[in-house]
Amino acid sequence: MSHDIRTPMNAIVGFTALAKNAASNETVLNYLDRIETASSQLLKLLNDVLEISRLEAGKIQIEEKPCDLLDILKNVQMAVHPWATEKKIDFSLDVSQVHHYEIYGDGQKLEQILLRLTKNAIKYTAAGGKITVAIVELYEQLQSYATYQFIVEDNGIGISEEFQKHIFEPFEREQNTTLSGVQGTGLGLTIIRNMINLMEGDIEVQSVPGKGSKFTVTLAFRLHNETEKRGEKEDVFYGPVGNKKILLVEDNEINVEIATELLKNVGFRVDTALNGKIAVEKVAKEKPEEYDLILMDIQMPVMDGYQAARLIRGMEDPKRAGIPIVAVSANTFDEDKKLSMESGMNAHIGKPIDISELLLLIRELIYKKESGTL
Ligand code: ADP
Repeated sequence: MSHDIRTPMNAIVGFTALAKNAASNETVLNYLDRIETASSQLLKLLNDVLEISRLEAGKIQIEEKPCDLLDILKNVQMAVHPWATEKKIDFSLDVSQVHHYEIYGDGQKLEQILLRLTKNAIKYTAAGGKITVAIVELYEQLQSYATYQFIVEDNGIGISEEFQKHIFEPFEREQNTTLSGVQGTGLGLTIIRNMINLMEGDIEVQSVPGKGSKFTVTLAFRLHNETEKRGEKEDVFYGPVGNKKILLVEDNEINVEIATELLKNVGFRVDTALNGKIAVEKVAKEKPEEYDLILMDIQMPVMDGYQAARLIRGMEDPKRAGIPIVAVSANTFDEDKKLSMESGMNAHIGKPIDISELLLLIRELIYKKESGTL
């Protein structure tokens, strides 16, 4: 179902972006801006409703995999960086009280939880405000476990005591936020609370209206054996993209048109392949360093994205086999991401493509590739 709902949304969001580039008339631009805002709200609502129904149906499971808490925080920082910068928010990470970064746990869910809390903090804090995301390692219950607090604190509009009692219930939004026109679904915190319950943790809120809010998530994780304390803060890379060439693999012609235009508009060179088989043939035939990155649709006729990624990873020439591959799919659940990773892809993003998110991801992957850390 989710694929059927998201695919037409993809066309709406994509063509609106293209129409905005093509429009020169003020009135038309104004209407397009409104379509863009409304469709992105609708998409958020759809995604949240689908996520809740899956959580409630018990379809979401917790995975225990090795992950690094610092990487998770950096991903959160990277995802919100453009928005926080635009709002002139003083955004800081504090990991000074962490002794073990490497844990076994569901890193993807933890990242989603922290990302949602951080986005809320930015959303409900006026321009020029201050937000801190901190991890505090509390104690080791057993030698191989540790309890962590993940704290997202802002100095924004705050939450009344009365509303704090209902804040985790579905569709609940405080009146001051709805009145001030801040968009939202009231489902984010319900999703967060459900996920934390699944992870056998806890979430608390402390807040003073007008002063700010502090959300504290407490979770216990099993530790990796060999872990050490690391540097306190590391900067995230935001290097230039340069004259890079992308192979766009996508069967839907509307999506090809939209994505090609969006990528060309920000300076990429773009080549296209209408299915996985054509993509594999192109990578094998062209020079090994021809493509800097591949954007790979998943559901395609003749050969799907998973199979194409596996064939590319299996190529003899290491330059060809090592091209960064990003799965671009209308299916964005954890299981879909897992399948992409298992096929050798480096990342998985949802459709409709959020071009600023994609740009950050491309930069990160190209940088990692060039510095030999991919
Ligand atoms: P949404 O933000 O989409 O409305 P959430 O479930 O994430 O949904 O949040 C529910 C409500 O809780 C918000 O509408 C807002 O009233 C309040 N809220 C959440 N986070 C904060 C925050 N950091 N500061 C102030 N209010 C908040």
